[in-house]
Amino acid sequence: MVSSQAIEILQASFPPDRVALPASEAYSERNGSYASKLESDILPHAIFLPETTAEVSQFVKIIHPLVQEGDFQFAIRGAGCQPLPRCANIQNGITLDLSRLVGTTLDETQGIVRIPAGERWGSVYKTVQEKGLAVTGARSGNNGIGGLALSGGLSFFGTREGFISDNVVNYEVVLASGEVVNANRQENPDLFVALRGGGNNLGIVTRFDLRTFKQGNFWGGALFYFPASFGGQIDALVTELNKLDPSEETHIMISLFYAEQFSKAMGLDGAMGLNQAYYTQEVEKPAVLEPFTDIQPQIDALNSMRMTNLVDAAEEQAKQAMTGVRCAYMNTAVKADGPTLHAATEIFRPALEKVKSIDGMVSSFTMQPYPVSLLKRTEPAGGNVLGLDPADGPLVSILILLYWNNQTDDEVVLSTARGVIEAIDKDAAAKGTLVPYKYLNYAFDFQDPIGSYGQENKKKLQDASRKYDPDGLFQKGVPGGFKLFP
Ligand SMILES: Cc1cc2nc3c(=O)[nH]c(=O)nc-3n(C[C@H](O)[C@H](O)[C@H](O)COP(=O)(O)OP(=O)(O)OC[C@H]3O[C@@H](n4cnc5c(N)ncnc54)[C@H](O)[C@@H]3O)c2cc1C
Repeated sequence: MVSSQAIEILQASFPPDRVALPASEAYSERNGSYASKLESDILPHAIFLPETTAEVSQFVKIIHPLVQEGDFQFAIRGAGCQPLPRCANIQNGITLDLSRLVGTTLDETQGIVRIPAGERWGSVYKTVQEKGLAVTGARSGNNGIGGLALSGGLSFFGTREGFISDNVVNYEVVLASGEVVNANRQENPDLFVALRGGGNNLGIVTRFDLRTFKQGNFWGGALFYFPASFGGQIDALVTELNKLDPSEETHIMISLFYAEQFSKAMGLDGAMGLNQAYYTQEVEKPAVLEPFTDIQPQIDALNSMRMTNLVDAAEEQAKQAMTGVRCAYMNTAVKADGPTLHAATEIFRPALEKVKSIDGMVSSFTMQPYPVSLLKRTEPAGGNVLGLDPADGPLVSILILLYWNNQTDDEVVLSTARGVIEAIDKDAAAKGTLVPYKYLNYAFDFQDPIGSYGQENKKKLQDASRKYDPDGLFQKGVPGGFKLFP
């Protein structure tokens, strides 16, 4: 590794606070602030903290020859909320941490919000909501921008407004050469489409410009119930998704979950049901959500269904998120088919029994619908590389989410969860309801989200890489995340 050489050049080229070294306060704070401890366990030789796009460009110009000459490598970090180890951090290399690129601006005339790459969605929501507007972003206000806006992404408004990355109208990108370009429908349109799913493979995005839309209060929240009725939730979800004219205002997440602390406090031994349901208009208790909100028996004290707004709803989700513990996500996608989803929960339940005594265990089987209306927004928005066709919908994304405390339990937790995903894939394939798509942000290292986009889309990404990054800087130099070439 030639990190020491890179560190010396960076220290000579930038103000001292841009390079954080191990043992410094800045290093501990930044490296300790990933969403998953699996990422914080990784220790880079230094963290580089640029404050402007020009500094990112200068960084790339400095490190590009070092990658070419030796085995120097780096990682790109937004807010560090993707749990996948190494995707945004690097052992012994340098982590480029974009957190100081901040200062969201709203252009009301053009209906665009310009978001520097170090922002978090909660602060963006405050800026737009003051003007009666909203934008598609993470449901948790604490989440970063880059991971979502480069990979699809589900927001409260996905059913009506499409994927988060389909709402990006312009990416400001530092290419492998250090040149700063815009990618939009007019300028570098092949790069624009490739960035909508390409993750960290094509450049360092320093600013994301997203379209805004009018949005008032909306209704929703979370409610907890006893899982005897969980199967009914699947049936209600499948019925709603397969209706000829389903609502474009609903956003639903249904989880079968186990939390050691929660279960102990409630004197329970098994999983609970959690529905997070929203109706994105100012309508109290809409009939379309009743199958999800009227479920019984509920734990009334934990029901937060209310008239809310974007800032408030995203704050609630941020409070529910756990940080500073070991965390992993794995996912698959299937058709909105009742038998497939019922079978998937029956695969999850016995696996949960295997891991639920593990210290700090929180585990969830979460279903997130991809309605046809979401998939239909891609084409008019200019396309992406996700390989999802409205004709194949509606779909349901299945996320297995796990939190636990100790490294000694990593292997059993990760292999059990992998076994669940593989068994669900096998069962769905046998039923003819498996969908190849794997959401990049929820994928674990044994999965292949880029390949899941299909041959044609993978080729588009590879072509864009050859054109905009001919030396393969973001392939060889940035090993974390999911890469384009074998
Ligand atoms: C509590 C919680 C809530 C979540 N809620 C949602 C949700 O509502 N909807 C949803 O779809 N997903 C959600 N996710 C998943 C989330 O989308 C991903 O974790 C996402 O990657 C986080 O973005 P980030 O910028 O913090 O990513 P990081 O962890 O910083 O980076 C993720 C990947 O993106 C790359 N990257 C980041 N920024 C850039 C950039 N500017 N240029 C180039 N590459 C970049 C990194 O190199 C890395 O490979 C949630 C996750 C958590 C932990």
